[in-house]
Amino acid sequence: MRTKIVAGNWKMNTDQTSGLQLVAEIVKGLENIYLLPEIELAFGVPHPYLKSVADAIPDYFKSQLKVAGQNCHLELNGAYTGCVSAAMLKDVGCRSVILGHSERRKYFGETDALLHDKIKTAFSQNLTVIYCCGETLEEREGGLEEKVIAEQISTALFGFSAEQLKNIVIAYEPVWAIGTGKTASPEQAEAVHAFIRKSLENQYDETTADNMTILYGGSVKPANAADIFAKPNVDGGLIGGASLKSADFLAIVAAMVKSPK
Ligand code: PEP
Repeated sequence: MRTKIVAGNWKMNTDQTSGLQLVAEIVKGLENIYLLPEIELAFGVPHPYLKSVADAIPDYFKSQLKVAGQNCHLELNGAYTGCVSAAMLKDVGCRSVILGHSERRKYFGETDALLHDKIKTAFSQNLTVIYCCGETLEEREGGLEEKVIAEQISTALFGFSAEQLKNIVIAYEPVWAIGTGKTASPEQAEAVHAFIRKSLENQYDETTADNMTILYGGSVKPANAADIFAKPNVDGGLIGGASLKSADFLAIVAAMVKSPK
């Protein structure tokens, strides 16, 4: 059975107090949700608050509730002013890192080749990777989404073994749906997720592809989560804006729990 994941991406939001309050509210709310063992949650927290958030997660939730960095450097240490390494993420309690988010690609020029190397670095620290891919509006309007996504995945994952792939989660995030309030329809999401799974089957094998967790991200909210999560190839979500409100995040988690799959 595939692991189902609901991951929040806080981006450059919250402060020390509000971040801890958000976590406390979510942990409290989870008491009313039976979190099936195959479901994991993650918080993508701004770097300065990672340790305090990791420490705030009660021991009984630690196996299911992970803290993730939102990026890491290619190198493990050195003269890279302002950067944060995978070793540092690990050191402060992260078990995962988000790589390839479209905002990193757009504002920081991150390429698939660079991301391939960053994934390797993350693996060297035993961090699991949430690897983001997705097309821009222009690319979708040009019918290029499959081509773009195939390239993003094949380059970034090039040379990794099926065993290593167990430590990667793919997040399909159409750029035109991120933070815009426009969501891909459940059918659009399912079509791309099925395409990604098929590509992985071609590149690896059926079992590897079948076991891969593929998340959808792009304006997921309580009102649309259930319909998106009901699709057979959607294994959860990467949630931006709605992860900053405990009630919304909890409602999305509840939709995952109730998902018929
Ligand atoms: C994201 O940034 O990963 C994201 C999905 O954002 P939002 O949910 O706000 O569209």
